[in-house]
Formats: sequence, structure tokens, C-alpha cells
Amino acid sequence: MDTSTRVAVDRDVCIGAGQCALAAPAVFVQDDDGFSTLRHGHPDPGADPTVREAARACPVGAIKVTGPQGPPEARP
Ligand code: SF4
Repeated sequence: MDTSTRVAVDRDVCIGAGQCALAAPAVFVQDDDGFSTLRHGHPDPGADPTVREAARACPVGAIKVTGPQGPPEARP
């Protein structure tokens, strides 16, 4: 069973507000179109405490954090 915490950006929902890159610059970066994407090379984005802050800050709820440290309803 995979128990790692997953972080994903729904780019269909993202409006490019950039709050995530401000809240968690080690995890999120804005691409050339202004939309958020996960920064490559982060060893374990799900373990980064700023990810939750970014998910809260996103005005459209485009950041999903699921797994053991995610919201209770997302736990396996
Ligand atoms: S805060 Fe949300 S809407 Fe803004 S860039 Fe990040 S994922 Fe997209």
C-alpha cells in the first residue's frame, strides 16, 4: 500500500493566482503561462509543511493534498 502523501495541481481549475508559489516556493512554480506546476526535483512535496498553507491559500482549491497527512476524508 502506498502511504505517501500526494500533492497535485488541477490545472483545469488553476487560474494562475500565484498564491501557491508565494506560500510554498520550494514546491510550486508558475510556468510561462502563469499556471502553477509542481517544481521538479523536490524530494518529497507531500512532507513539506508549506504545501498545506498553499492549498489553503489557493482561491479556487486547485491544490489537492491526499494521503496519510491529507484531509481525513482522503485517507485510505
Ligand atoms: S494558488 Fe491555486 S489558482 Fe493560484 S497558481 Fe496556485 S494552484 Fe493556481
